[in-house]
Amino acid sequence: MSMQSISRRALFALFLTAAATGPLAATSYVQVSDEALVDASPLAVVARVTAVDRGVVLEGERGKSLFTEYVLEVEEPLKGDVPGHLLRMRLPGGETPDGLGLKIYGMPSFRIGDRALLFLEPDGHGAFRPAHLFLGAFREVRGGGRAVAVRNLHEATEVRQTADGVTTEPGNDRLRDFDAFVRWVAARGAGARPEADYFIGYLDSQLLRQMIGKYVLFEDDDGANLRWFDFDTAGNVPWKAFSTGQQGVSGGGYAEFQASLQAWNAEASTPIDYRYDGKTDSTNGLEVYDGLNTIVFNDPTHILPAFSCASGGVLALGGPWYQTATETFGGRPFHRIVNADIITNSGLGCFFQASPDGSAAAKELFGHELGHTLGLGHACGDSSGSDPNCLNPAFDEALMRAFIHDDQRGARLAADDRAGVQELYSQVPAPPLHLKATAKSTTEIELAWEDAATNETGFRIEYKTLDGTYAEAATLAANSTGALISGLTPATGYAFRVTATADAGASSPSNEATAATLAPVAACVADSHTLCLNGNRFKVTVSWKINTGQTGVATHVAVPSDDSGLLWFFTADNWEMMVKALDGCAVNQHHWVFFVALTDVQYTLTVVDTRTGQVKAYFNPLGQPSPLVTDTSAFATCP
Ligand SMILES: [Zn+2]
Repeated sequence: MSMQSISRRALFALFLTAAATGPLAATSYVQVSDEALVDASPLAVVARVTAVDRGVVLEGERGKSLFTEYVLEVEEPLKGDVPGHLLRMRLPGGETPDGLGLKIYGMPSFRIGDRALLFLEPDGHGAFRPAHLFLGAFREVRGGGRAVAVRNLHEATEVRQTADGVTTEPGNDRLRDFDAFVRWVAARGAGARPEADYFIGYLDSQLLRQMIGKYVLFEDDDGANLRWFDFDTAGNVPWKAFSTGQQGVSGGGYAEFQASLQAWNAEASTPIDYRYDGKTDSTNGLEVYDGLNTIVFNDPTHILPAFSCASGGVLALGGPWYQTATETFGGRPFHRIVNADIITNSGLGCFFQASPDGSAAAKELFGHELGHTLGLGHACGDSSGSDPNCLNPAFDEALMRAFIHDDQRGARLAADDRAGVQELYSQVPAPPLHLKATAKSTTEIELAWEDAATNETGFRIEYKTLDGTYAEAATLAANSTGALISGLTPATGYAFRVTATADAGASSPSNEATAATLAPVAACVADSHTLCLNGNRFKVTVSWKINTGQTGVATHVAVPSDDSGLLWFFTADNWEMMVKALDGCAVNQHHWVFFVALTDVQYTLTVVDTRTGQVKAYFNPLGQPSPLVTDTSAFATCP
């Protein structure tokens, strides 16, 4: 394949010293109150993004312009008459099929599946746009057990009128509880004047990052991340180093560069394989695509403003070149990285000489830039990121922090850096989803799951009795989505889990699915340990175990009831459990099982439908206070 035929784009990030300032944002705004947003917007909805088209060209008064169009599925109209179930929302900026793009910093950007609270107005071309553009678009972010409505104002500059005149500062916003904000908007939209009770704090970078909680990956405008595909097939990526050597580092920095390549290779759960491939005289670097992966020392072509030891500045610039088309890895689309380059700034001699350990500083600098070339963004410290001040210690420790630590650490990966490359490169398969277990006979249970992995070599099924420990039941070939487990004990509850396996390791287990084998169809014969309920249809037995290892079966107390039973474990006057089997067919076409136990000992309650042989087994682990169980879908055979 000719490289010239590939549409490519490059993505670079600056690595700075602490004295430098970030790039200027392109959008400015004056804050609009939530009350004004509701009152001035003809439409407010909760909607989910179901499709994105980034190449919509519209003919306007001043010629053609490029838009991104989102198809929104309306989940809940909050204000105004929503014309149908689907809406189209357009925002300026986008991308043409030949790879040309227009990005407007500060515009909201959504991905398929995103849920948002949107204040909308007609755009004059048959679609809608958010009121006040980014100010009218709140994305739902979930984390820490709650959902928060978030507006991305990081790329915008807030302009405020104060007594002293106009001030400008980076955008910041208060966090809103998503559901409370939705209720408030609906009430205000309907004419009520409720208190604004939905604020839960400032859009503090630390709080937001705790919610999102991880490393930053480079991402294209389409939302897809970037990765090399070469490592997947045991390939490697060769790197050349500029022949002048790094100013200020004795030996020219070649040893330090090789150490920083090795730092990423050493990440054990990824197949990253960067190789040192000798020196080059090429200065193409980031300016000309040449297919060579090169670290160009001292910025010989002056693409950066020279570093100043007095005021700080940019140390280096690095990143990947990648294809605009996407390819799939692990079921996700990624842009293929085809080349990468690093340029260190001119004038760094004084920086390395002033460092407590110039060699370690060079390793950190090179290692950081190599992280960008693998597809990682800045963990924190970017003015446009969500933790510009590196308040979260996990991100502050990262090699991918936007500001060099220069504390003799060298090219040391932190947990956040590792997690980032693991997401991009780990070949451990994704776990199976939605495992279900269904009894087929007195000795067989059928399993079915969804294969969420594309790179598994097989599956491992584990099973246990409800009170047992997991052991392997079977192994299966890749792409399997079900199995019949046989040789089981009748009328017994089992738990199952499935992992996807590969050479690189096994996935985490699927959900645990439980089912009980059928019982032979036979009439219920009551005795002191067997309770027959509901016209002798349901047979109830209970076994128990205490922490000394002693086991036993429950004895029932004679009570004048056909639907309910009372059981003791240890002594006849120490009642432990009450059980009911009720005919709920008139209500929901099921027989119900309810029980409560005043105990924290281990027990298994087994209920058999003697008409069908269906079995339900309920297990309480040792030491855990028994919950109240109200199983209204216990048995589906009616009457
Ligand atoms: Zn950087």
